Amino acid sequence: MNSAQQRGKVIIAGAGPGDPDLITVKTVKALRQAQVILVDRLVSEEILANYAAPDAEIVYVGKQCRSHGTTPQATINELLVEYALLGKRVLRLKGGDVSIFSNVLDELQSLVAHEIEYEIIPGITAALGAAAYAGIPLTARQHSTAVRFLTYYTYSKLTEAYWHELAQTQDTLVFYMSSERLSEVVEKLTRHGISAEKQLAVVEQATTPLQHVQVSNLYDYEKNLGGKTFVSPSLVIIGKVVNLHEEFKWFTNNPTREYYFKPVSEQVGLVLQ
Ligand code: SAH
Repeated sequence: MNSAQQRGKVIIAGAGPGDPDLITVKTVKALRQAQVILVDRLVSEEILANYAAPDAEIVYVGKQCRSHGTTPQATINELLVEYALLGKRVLRLKGGDVSIFSNVLDELQSLVAHEIEYEIIPGITAALGAAAYAGIPLTARQHSTAVRFLTYYTYSKLTEAYWHELAQTQDTLVFYMSSERLSEVVEKLTRHGISAEKQLAVVEQATTPLQHVQVSNLYDYEKNLGGKTFVSPSLVIIGKVVNLHEEFKWFTNNPTREYYFKPVSEQVGLVLQ
């Protein structure tokens, strides 16, 4: 056997947004066969409990804003390579989908640099999970013809011209990782004259039994939701389509402020140096 054949393989897969049943059959098969599973914070514990092999090594490599115990990306890249070089079948399990606001590029670059074989399996991204479970069709006819997945996390790079265009577009806007600075997003969109017909929905813990949806007009945001801290993870949908929530909501709204996903500091496994 040459060294290439002794190397393991890495499967990078999306686990879906929360509801453990929203995982693909292909990812379940990969989970059953994996010898090592490197898992993000936003992956339902039930998924590992249901599908991981009993002797699989589970390594928690969660990341969380400003939180103790967050795993640096470089460590994750190194671990993937190390386990693969040991000849293991490695599964890198990420929340939602792999290609939406995940650091998959860094991981792919390390794998390619070390000539490690890999596969990518898609998952249901949070925007699509939230849209379905909140009854908000993102490109509903006569409401919107396109949808954009955005984040305000990189706020320093966004120009006023960019905000003006965002305020004027008919596209539905979905903001990931932005609820902590939502009042700034709203201030910019209203300053650039976003239509008062559009509403905003904050979907906390989408698709989980703790899903909570709150809707407001952007111009009444401060009165309705200003100063609130939203339960992580949460996603923001903005557009005319949000008006459909009232009529088409079907999933129980749960205002209990409990956490579905444990904070990284409570996840067991990897001890970081
Ligand atoms: N790759 C993931 C996104 C990772 S970025 C995906 O495709 O869904 C993390 C952000 O995703 C969170 O800050 C939040 O905005 C969003 N998110 C992930 N899961 C969510 C959930 N169950 N409910 C609401 N937002 C969620």
